[in-house]
Amino acid sequence: MKVLVINAGSSSLKYQLYEMLNENVLASGRVERIGMDSSIVTHEPADKPEVRDVSEILDHVTAVKRVIDMITHKEYGVIGSMSEIDAVGHRIVHGGEVFKGSVLVTQEVKLEIRRLFDLAPLHNPAHMMGITAVEAVMPEVPQVVVFDTAFHQTMPNTSYLYPVPTVLYRRHKIRRYGFHGTSHAYVSDKAARYLNKPLQSLKMVTCHIGNGASCAAILDGKSFDTSMGMTPLEGLMMGTRSGDIDPAIVPFVMNKEELTLNEANSMLNKHSGMLAISGISSDMREVTEAMHEGDKNAKLAFDMYTYRLRKYIGAYAAAMNGIDVLVFTAGVGENSPDVREAVCEGITFLGIELDKEKNRIRSKEAREISTPNSRIKVLVVPTNEELLIARDTNTIVKELQN
Ligand code: AMP
Repeated sequence: MKVLVINAGSSSLKYQLYEMLNENVLASGRVERIGMDSSIVTHEPADKPEVRDVSEILDHVTAVKRVIDMITHKEYGVIGSMSEIDAVGHRIVHGGEVFKGSVLVTQEVKLEIRRLFDLAPLHNPAHMMGITAVEAVMPEVPQVVVFDTAFHQTMPNTSYLYPVPTVLYRRHKIRRYGFHGTSHAYVSDKAARYLNKPLQSLKMVTCHIGNGASCAAILDGKSFDTSMGMTPLEGLMMGTRSGDIDPAIVPFVMNKEELTLNEANSMLNKHSGMLAISGISSDMREVTEAMHEGDKNAKLAFDMYTYRLRKYIGAYAAAMNGIDVLVFTAGVGENSPDVREAVCEGITFLGIELDKEKNRIRSKEAREISTPNSRIKVLVVPTNEELLIARDTNTIVKELQN
């Protein structure tokens, strides 16, 4: 079966085409600047050179058509025709409380996703454009939606409720949903396989730390708690997002600085985190580089980032009454030995013994970076959200055919 995985944003559309027999990526790419002049399509076939094409792509339907042109192209295509695509899987940021797993797209499912626009106004409408565009271009092809929130739907109410008037939950569904669920699910499963132990037997903390960052406490193979909340702003300090702050700061600053709601939102989402504290960049590479060159603000940003991460790991170890495995993933987690070392060296009391040499070795494979004596296994597991989307799509569409 061949599965096309799509991640549609408001002005971009990323894709990967999988052959599910061996889970190989046949091609991947992205369309950028949809709706603007000079849209760019970058197509990367697995065994051929990358192709870049600049043209006018005014909507998502045209974007999907361009993707199909690319993957079926005589020269740089990877399949003969569109009919070889058996299914399409979409990444959807918010599934609310309705979606506890991946599902086939039906009229009802689309209606539910629309109902959730309020909870993810920047993401879900764009995903919906992706779904309707695929429907227009490939009406016969089954589509599956995979939600970032679904994995966390197993959280108990002690984890997901906020201590605010309960009417807010009843009326507006104000609660913790959590995000990066596909990644936490993928890396926890992969970590258990790597250790050759049943996932259900391990108390795990997974740290998905990239531009956005979240931790998850995984107990009995299920998400027990996670650091992102009703929106992806809560929790860890991130590239440009503040993570946890005293909520009373918001009305206080809005009043003092005469900020509108939008400005306050933008302050916390786009002008905070590493960028604000370092005054240099939201990118961990640049901050770490500046820190090694002696920049004090970069060091402060790095120290705050790792300190806050340590606090969450400690909190989740307490929440689960123990921890067996600590997993690092995503851009920072997979590529920054400095961050991993600073985090692990600060929580040795838990039973973590980092192998500093192993921690410095670069690899694209899942690997252990703790010593054989370490009570807690520390792993680096490269995430692969697209593969999990492709797998779910494959399973659901196969069931449909049986
Ligand atoms: P992601 O959102 O998972 O793609 O992660 C992107 C982030 O990973 C970037 O903003 C960088 O901060 C970080 N990153 C990527 N490579 C490195 C590296 N070699 N060292 C430190 N951070 C890195």
